[in-house]
Amino acid sequence: MDDSKLGKRNKRDDWSPHKPVAYPPLFVWPPQPVALLKWFAGLPGYLFPWTLFYILVSVLTYAYLTPAAETMKTISWDWTLFLLVRNWAYVFIFYGGLHLMYYVKRIQGNTFKYNGRWPEVGNPTFLFKHQVRDNMFWTLLSGVPIWTAYEAIMLWMFSNGYIPYMSWAEHPVYNVALLLIIPLWREVHFYTAHRSLHIPVLYRWFHKLHHNNVNISAWSGLAMHPVEHVLYFSVVLIHLIVPSNPLHAIFTLAHAGLTPAQGHLGYERLELAGVQINLNTYPHYLHHKYFECNYADGTVPMDKWFGSFHDGTPESQARMDARFLAQAQKAKQNDNASA
Ligand SMILES: [Zn+2]
Ligand SMILES: [Zn+2]
Repeated sequence: MDDSKLGKRNKRDDWSPHKPVAYPPLFVWPPQPVALLKWFAGLPGYLFPWTLFYILVSVLTYAYLTPAAETMKTISWDWTLFLLVRNWAYVFIFYGGLHLMYYVKRIQGNTFKYNGRWPEVGNPTFLFKHQVRDNMFWTLLSGVPIWTAYEAIMLWMFSNGYIPYMSWAEHPVYNVALLLIIPLWREVHFYTAHRSLHIPVLYRWFHKLHHNNVNISAWSGLAMHPVEHVLYFSVVLIHLIVPSNPLHAIFTLAHAGLTPAQGHLGYERLELAGVQINLNTYPHYLHHKYFECNYADGTVPMDKWFGSFHDGTPESQARMDARFLAQAQKAKQNDNASA
């Protein structure tokens, strides 16, 4: 696999793609129906492989690894601990599996790896002075329990009929459409929560912990402060209002809980069994590199609408630098005025 055709390496061995990051033809005027269909159903596209993969994981989870509604009518340690162990197992498989393959065995070396370096050891910024152990600590002891707490509460409410329910037998089309929209809702919610966490005081208290990971790897994905976890997984609360089904809530949370592993892997694409799989995670890598850009992941153009989009080009970099300069000058003027 040769990454030199699709990108270039700098002196520090960081790889970047030649092609600027671009939004899909979803919110464009005039509409581009053919391009939209190609994006939606193409390979790689919106549905294939990733959205479908996480839907399948959720369907199997709902069918085989979720207690019966009758059991979940009453909150008890039995079934809530079962959910916790099941979600820990998923995280070990997804995050641990990717980490083992790409950061321990390094099966792809640094081909298509954005950052030329590997995770840090001996840096006192991280718990245990060890980036991966720090990341695992926050993921396993805060991220997964908070994800599971939301899941248990939502399933308990569905089981008792406390929230609006849409059965699959009566509303199959609505339910499928809702499943397909959930990743877009996730992105809108993520942008909003994430952008709020970049307000300086909130950043210092709750979000710096995630950004200690400038050079990201799979385990960095859910390495967040508990308050950020509470905010991040609150994406599932949409199901309190929008009529849905327990599968939707499981999918929303599994999508939030598992996609950060690939989102932070730090590779543009992977090759497995001769098949190249595109990860499309450069926008979030740039967020970890430059901090004040790309608060969303690059499907819904929130960053474009609100002026924080960075497509990886020098022009984008110049725009971001000019924005910083203007903000710094404004802050200085405000300081002078109040002095
Ligand atoms: Zn991140
Ligand atoms: Zn951030």
